[in-house]
Parts: sequence; structure tokens; C-alpha cells
Amino acid sequence: EQEREVLTWDLYGRAARELAQTVADSGFVPDVVLGIARGGLIPAGSLAYALGCKNLFTISVEFYTGVDSRLDVPVMLPPFLNAHDLDEASVLVVDDVADTGRTLELVADFCSGHVREMRTAVLYEKPQSVITCDHVWKRTSRWINFPWSTEPPVANRSGVLDA
Ligand code: 5GP
Repeated sequence: EQEREVLTWDLYGRAARELAQTVADSGFVPDVVLGIARGGLIPAGSLAYALGCKNLFTISVEFYTGVDSRLDVPVMLPPFLNAHDLDEASVLVVDDVADTGRTLELVADFCSGHVREMRTAVLYEKPQSVITCDHVWKRTSRWINFPWSTEPPVANRSGVLDA
């Protein structure tokens, strides 16, 4: 098996600032940062702070069910964002990684026809992505371990049973 690409929390802090810097340097000033849940939420929050943007929206899309195992098509999950909330906005769409790129493609289609301008920013982009992102921190073809999803959820160790 191919070695994994590992992003640590330490490295993540630098990655987020560097990614934000490339957006700032491009001259694009987003009215709205739109993070794709769940993987894109932490990068979206970091970029919103780094870019001084207070409008942070989220959209929930599910595609992957495990390492390299996915549904047939990415699907939007409720609660649904009203596309009219993005009318005439400059939107920065943020995700953790563009792998097949189909999640970002779905969100881009959802936004188009509403937004004034749209840019995409990801920490990683893989060579097979159907979307070419505007801002990419690093390119890889490996499976990536992100710091927020590498460990399993914490378990209740208190002995107190669920109500
Ligand atoms: P895509 O639609 O571009 O194939 O990927 C959608 C989502 O799948 C990503 O936002 C991410 O949450 C998950 N994903 C895809 N590739 C990887 C990977 O290499 N590592 C991890 N941890 N998640 C991935």
C-alpha cells in the first residue's frame, strides 16, 4: 500500500495561513466563505479568520464512507442552504481536499447562477480532480490523514450510561 500523506495539527496551522495568503494575494475578497461539511469546516473557519471575513456558511455533502470507498454520487444533506442567500455574493468555497473533485463540482453547480463570483480553495488537490481549484496548498496522489479525522471519536469513559 502506498504511504499516506500526513497533515499534523502543527503543520495545519501553517498550511491554513499560507492558503489564505494566496487568496489575499490574488486580490479576491470574499463576502462569504462557504465550507463543505464536515472536512472543509475547519479550513473554512481558519480561512474566514485569516481573510477577515465574518460571513461563514456551510453546506453538507456526503460522498466517502471510508478510505477510498464512496457512494455512487455525492449527495447534499440537510439542513439545506438556500442558494438565494448567495445571490450576488463573492463566495470562497472551501474543502479539505479535491480528490475526484465531484463534491466541489456539486457545490459549484449549486452556487452558479446565484453568486457574483466564486473561487475554490483546498488544502490538497489530487491529479484526477474534475475541478481545477483556484487555490491549493499542496498536491498529492496519496490518501491524506487529516488531524481532525485520524483518531476515532472519543468514547465515554465515565461509566455514566446514556440517558
Ligand atoms: P471528492 O468529492 O473530491 O472525491 O472528495 C470529497 C471528500 O472526500 C473530501 O472533502 C474528503 O472529506 C474526502 N476525501 C477524499 N480524499 C480523501 C483523502 O485522501 N483523505 C481523507 N481523509 N478524506 C478524503
